[in-house]
Formats: sequence, structure tokens, C-alpha cells
Amino acid sequence: MARYTGPVCRLCRAEGKKLMLKGERCKSDKCAINRKRPAPGKDPKGRLGKRSDYGLQLREKQRLRRIYGMQERQFRLFFERALRMAGITGENLFVLLERRLDNAVYRLRFAASRSQARQLVLHGHVRVNGKRVSIPSYLVKPEDIIEIKEGSKNLVVIKEALKENSRAGVMPWLELDPDGMKGKFLAVPRRSDITDLADVKEQMIVEYYSK
Ligand code: SF4
Repeated sequence: MARYTGPVCRLCRAEGKKLMLKGERCKSDKCAINRKRPAPGKDPKGRLGKRSDYGLQLREKQRLRRIYGMQERQFRLFFERALRMAGITGENLFVLLERRLDNAVYRLRFAASRSQARQLVLHGHVRVNGKRVSIPSYLVKPEDIIEIKEGSKNLVVIKEALKENSRAGVMPWLELDPDGMKGKFLAVPRRSDITDLADVKEQMIVEYYSK
């Protein structure tokens, strides 16, 4: 399936919820959800109206997949890996998603959105333990050092993202040195640590894929 390249706010409008796909704009009054823009399509009320269990599970899965900017095939592979791990599948899925390198770059405030973080990784601006890694789905592990390559430290997008967001701190499983543009993945997060996505019902996603 091709990567979605249309207007990303449309995805939020389709879900009726903020997916935080556009960095600073998501926190502003310009956000389509803040402005109560309707869902796209001819029957927006119908789209967000009463749904079957299957429809609700599908929407929850789409929502989480879009938040992390993944295509269906890769998201499903992550789910299957979570299923094979010991423990609770929905929680395992979150742990795997949070270990993605593009996500860690976003969480470390080097990018204003996950899609921008993905571009930074793809274009070789990021190093893990001193080595260039250009695979957004690369899974970081505890004690890994994630840093911006020396020659990329002057990039305006990175400087601005850090300036805008680093004061807010980072998630508890990360450590950030904003001046050095360097961070550390301290530990694998617990589901309860991922507070900004506390309202995602991962059990519905497990049910969706279990049919
Ligand atoms: Fe979604 Fe951000 Fe657009 Fe708001 S500004 S609709 S949260 S992508």
C-alpha cells in the first residue's frame, strides 16, 4: 500500500481526534480539530456516528497506526511481533512502537512531528551509538545513544524543534542533552508511562487483528 501523501489534518478529521501529525500547528488555534472542522466526505455525521464493534476496532487501529505514521503492512508486522512476545500483546505493541528510531528522535525533540523525524532518519542525520542508522523502523534498546550527526547540527528544522519543545522535557524513559543534540534511551517504557496516548484502547486493536 502506498504511503499517504494527502493533507494530514484530514486524517484527524476522519478520526474526530487529534493525531498530532503537524508539530506546532497541532497546539495552535489553526488545528482543524480545535476549529471543529467536520469529518471529510459527503456524510461526515454518518462517518462519526454509531459504529459496529468491528468499526470501532478498525478506527482505533487506524488511529494508532496513523499516529506513528506507519503503513498497514508494517503495523501488522509489529502487531505479530508483539503477539509472539511474553506478556500483554497490546502493551507489547506500544513498547515496540516506542522503540522505533523515528519515534525516539521525535520524543527527544529533535523533530516537531514523527513524519519530520522519519525524514531526518531517512536522510542520514541521525546516529545510534556513533553509527549512522537510516532505517526509521530500527528498534532502539536501553542504553542506546541517539544523536544528531555532527554535520547536521546546524539544520534549522532541528534547532527550531529543540527550541520550541525541549523546555517541556522528555518522556521518563529518555534523557536529553539539548546542547549536545544527544539523547539516551534509558529503559523500555511501561504502558502507563505513555501518558500522551493514555486514551488509546489497545485491547480493541488486539481484537481487530484476532478476527
Ligand atoms: Fe491533526 Fe495536528 Fe492537523 Fe490538528 S493540526 S488536525 S492535530 S494534524
